[in-house]
Amino acid sequence: MDKVECIVIGAGVVGLAVARRLAQAGREVIVIEAADDIGTGTSSRNSEVIHAGIYYPTGSLMARHCVNGKYALYDYCRDHGIPHRRCGKLIVATTADDAEKLAAIRVRAAANGVDDLELLDADAARALEPALNCTAALLSPSTGIIDSHALMLALRGDAEDAGAAIAFNAPLLQGRAVGGEISVDIGGEAPMSLACRLLVNAAGLNATAIARSIDGMPVEKIPTAYLAKGNYFSCGVRSPFTHLIYPVPEPGGLGVHLTLDLGGQAKFGPDVEWVNTIDYEVDPARVERFYPAIRRYWPTLPDGALTPGYSGMRPKIVPPAVAVQDFLIQGPQDHGVPGLINLLGIESPGLTSSLAIADHVAELATA
Ligand SMILES: Cc1cc2nc3c(=O)[nH]c(=O)nc-3n(C[C@H](O)[C@H](O)[C@H](O)COP(=O)(O)OP(=O)(O)OC[C@H]3O[C@@H](n4cnc5c(N)ncnc54)[C@H](O)[C@@H]3O)c2cc1C
Repeated sequence: MDKVECIVIGAGVVGLAVARRLAQAGREVIVIEAADDIGTGTSSRNSEVIHAGIYYPTGSLMARHCVNGKYALYDYCRDHGIPHRRCGKLIVATTADDAEKLAAIRVRAAANGVDDLELLDADAARALEPALNCTAALLSPSTGIIDSHALMLALRGDAEDAGAAIAFNAPLLQGRAVGGEISVDIGGEAPMSLACRLLVNAAGLNATAIARSIDGMPVEKIPTAYLAKGNYFSCGVRSPFTHLIYPVPEPGGLGVHLTLDLGGQAKFGPDVEWVNTIDYEVDPARVERFYPAIRRYWPTLPDGALTPGYSGMRPKIVPPAVAVQDFLIQGPQDHGVPGLINLLGIESPGLTSSLAIADHVAELATA
């Protein structure tokens, strides 16, 4: 059987960042990707927001990797000419109750290392965004937006320049961990088996299933997978906003928020819809929940402005009743399988965190 030092499963933003990091450290790397191109999964179905790291539980992997990843990502964008904008975000309170919550959000953010949030009264917020209805707001200046495909192209380029190879149409079928090596069976157009010393499972929505398909991986260490779909609606009228606009978060979600693309086009969402199968169709009827939620902060949103957009799937590893999930990054010390690293539950802020997750994997790989 042919041998390679490292195999990365999945060429989404996380798998590409990991492949780049390992290849630049001098490792021999092959990425195997089931689809025929990079970034066809969740990495192309998200909000493209560079998150500041405000809400995550302090000390969680999400909090740490989001904050470190954000700094690394801004530097990477600058150095590689990746289109992005540090446009800032406003978290807006529309009731007195909400306004009280802003102070707690600011305290949590500071504990996470996000110490640049600015509390604004209604007049100061409207000076920034005249169309906004609010009683108070928090300005997050380090939140931004990014062209995620340009990011993935740059990561791929760096990885390949450092000697990594990517095999497309190459789905991992199953693997076996034996004697310090992991051998994998790859299907697709050119089926083959390969053995490696390091296998990084960055298969996104499929990562838990892949962990399960590796003989020798203890099943009790693999969480149950759930899917939480996020639906977006596009805004057919020109948005008056230049910042991203988020309501105060509600239990279980961030509320119906407005994000912008680099062309200034606004979209709303994602909402949260727990599903059992992957179907990216957006149900137009869900728009009824969007209008009243948006009009709390943008009262003049015209009737008929919203049309179904796209959707993405959150790879959940906790059931709907559990409000908070963290990234689960498992190395040999967690599951006992030498050379196997599983990246599970990499939902938002996975795009922002991708470079920091890659550093984490590189550390585990040398431990
Ligand atoms: C609705 C939504 C909005 C989001 N918004 C943001 C945001 O604004 N900012 C942010 O930071 N994060 C955001 N995220 C999170 C972010 O998009 C993800 O964390 C990130 O894209 C995950 O990347 P990935 O590489 O782990 O997974 P993916 O992009 O899904 O890549 C996994 C890859 O593995 C491949 N694969 C699967 N099975 C196999 C197999 N058997 N063999 C080989 N290859 C396989 C797939 O084809 C795919 O290419 C959002 C997520 C969602 C769902």
